[in-house]
Amino acid sequence: MKETIGSQKISEVYGENVFSLKTMRNYLSTKAYRALRATIKEGRSLDSEIADEVADAMKKWAVSKGATHFTHWFQPLTGTTAEKHDSFIVPLAEGGVVLKFSGKELIKGEPDASSFPSGGLRATFEARGYTAWDPTSPAFIKEGTKGSTLCIPTAFYSYHGEALDKKTPLLRSINALSKQITRLADLFDIPQKAKRAHVTLGVEQEYFLVDKRFYRKRPDLIQTGRTLFGRKPAKHQQMGDHYFGAIKGRVMAFMEDVDWALWKLGIPSKTRHNEVCPAQFEIAPIYEEQNLSIDHNMIVMEVLKQVASKHGFVCLLHEKPYAGVNGSGKHNNWSILGPDGKNWLSPGESPHDNAIFLTIICALIKAIDEHADLLRVSVASIGNDRRLGANEAPPAILSIFLGEQLTDVIKQIEKGGAKSSKKTSVIKIGKTALPPLPRDATDRNRTSPFAFTGNKFEFRAVGSSQNSARANIVFNVIVAEALDAICTELESKKADSGKFNARLQKVLRGVVKKHKRVLFNGDNYGGEWAKEAEKRRLPNLKTTPQALKVLKSKKNIALFEKHSVLSKSELISRHEIYSEQYKKVVDIEANAALTIVKTMIIPAAIDYAGVLARVLNDTRGHAISLKRTKMLLREVSAHTEKALILIEELEKYTDGNKTDKIITCMERLRESVDALEGLLPAGKWPLPTYAKMMYLG
Ligand code: ADP
Ligand code: MG
Repeated sequence: MKETIGSQKISEVYGENVFSLKTMRNYLSTKAYRALRATIKEGRSLDSEIADEVADAMKKWAVSKGATHFTHWFQPLTGTTAEKHDSFIVPLAEGGVVLKFSGKELIKGEPDASSFPSGGLRATFEARGYTAWDPTSPAFIKEGTKGSTLCIPTAFYSYHGEALDKKTPLLRSINALSKQITRLADLFDIPQKAKRAHVTLGVEQEYFLVDKRFYRKRPDLIQTGRTLFGRKPAKHQQMGDHYFGAIKGRVMAFMEDVDWALWKLGIPSKTRHNEVCPAQFEIAPIYEEQNLSIDHNMIVMEVLKQVASKHGFVCLLHEKPYAGVNGSGKHNNWSILGPDGKNWLSPGESPHDNAIFLTIICALIKAIDEHADLLRVSVASIGNDRRLGANEAPPAILSIFLGEQLTDVIKQIEKGGAKSSKKTSVIKIGKTALPPLPRDATDRNRTSPFAFTGNKFEFRAVGSSQNSARANIVFNVIVAEALDAICTELESKKADSGKFNARLQKVLRGVVKKHKRVLFNGDNYGGEWAKEAEKRRLPNLKTTPQALKVLKSKKNIALFEKHSVLSKSELISRHEIYSEQYKKVVDIEANAALTIVKTMIIPAAIDYAGVLARVLNDTRGHAISLKRTKMLLREVSAHTEKALILIEELEKYTDGNKTDKIITCMERLRESVDALEGLLPAGKWPLPTYAKMMYLG
């Protein structure tokens, strides 16, 4: 990855490291190009001869970019990405090598990769893992220092074809949703260019930067990605002066390199800005087809980390790197691109579009109310538990913000669709015009986990480090399910087309009546909402262990099986894996905390207590009052003792793997340590402070 692009133009650089359709045209015969394009656009399978040609072309292109290796790049259930490199070399009998890459190698890999979590899906005697080329996400080049690597996005599955990754169920869920969308299009007599709908997704990514020099002195950051201890500085985000503030030179240089690196990879990076907390930032690309957008977000996270390192920073993607201030999320902007090539969440101008739009809105209301538990579990992780419901992030209670105007429309649907209201005239879905909703008709409610933002829904509960495939799989499935129910009701009377509008009206009215409890336009951060939500009987699964249970419920297994997205064993495996991950993170954090306190904090505190004790001792018999110094010694000693007691307790819990107890014990331990940080001489405190780390100079 070059640090500067010199005088090159974006238009020349953009996509230079991607084997896009545009590039392929120069490397493939017309026949192969057309076949591959049909595979990409319509999901048709590719015959092996053409695969050989594509592989050879891909290799030629990659080698021209300095590639020596290729890798099947995939997204195992660890939450990150994985790659195992193979060089193109084939040694010749007479000596020397040629570079080769076959269609077989392109289409299927056998990385084995048996150390990835499988949650019981791979018994050891048949532990093979395979990767399968996803032609819908173009291959790309990762630049190294000496050469580069051709990365081929792939799905990862077991010997029995079970999904061991996040891409496989995502692709299945897109199919499930597409099926229901095209069914709805048929019902509305919408002309369909292809019998296929797409989901669009734009992922806004928040992150922190910290100076590498400080990072290296924080074993907690190195090992857990977050600070386990640390007092809030006097000034942090209270003044709101970092948010959208002028970007400092050093950070700007980093951001510029990030953008260029992403553009080279054909990732449409669009927005960059300072976020609320000092040293916190955001990057957002322009939305793309969902599967591609998720692959791109995984690359964005990697590029952020790599470029940060070149600039003497470390990029923190943890949901809550610092306690007491804003954490980082990943806003998922989700919409449907119908088979007519239109955005179905855009209210549009014509009544026909509006009817479709309102049907989709009602489907979403139904989906979220019926499956709030699944959406909650889709963002469950220990890191995100610390963020959800804290200062800035939406709570664990799922509700929908529609904005004033749309809420008004929904209310009218509930009343029967023929009543007038303050802003709108007569509303009858279908033949009677619904006033078009201008793009900005929706207000901004930053506190809602799920907000309608003019032409898309924004799900804000996803954590910054998470692979958003998890949330998007759930979205696609639950919307597919809601549409299935709505379509079934509508189809039962389809023959009677004259009454279609009335029928639709009745169906949507039923949905609103039944599911309106999930609509909430107010402040989601306040305690009032938690009480109100309880009255409305909305689920509030506060922690990951509570949330994970829903993956095993009969209702949810049936849902995922019905839409062929995840089988029972695939779901159970995810439950196992995420539960294990949760326990492991707690364990790692506890052990990191124990070492830091024992080897860094306690020695520093005892040293200082010694200094104070000596002063008191040396001045004994002198006529000076050191009453307050004595009190100071007492305070330091009390916190030190308390920390020592809590260490003993924590060790017991870690031995017994008592996760809940560990978490509360660590919170108490943190109180003592943070109190000591406020008492010990600044120069003697063994960890860089928040004040230093948040200031990027
Ligand atoms: P904000 O949410 O801050 O107002 P934008 O409206 O520009 O910002 O959108 C944020 C993200 O939503 C961007 O990634 C943008 O590309 C994406 N987005 C816009 N339209 C759609 C759409 N139809 N489908 C999916 N994502 C979209
Ligand atoms: Mg946004």
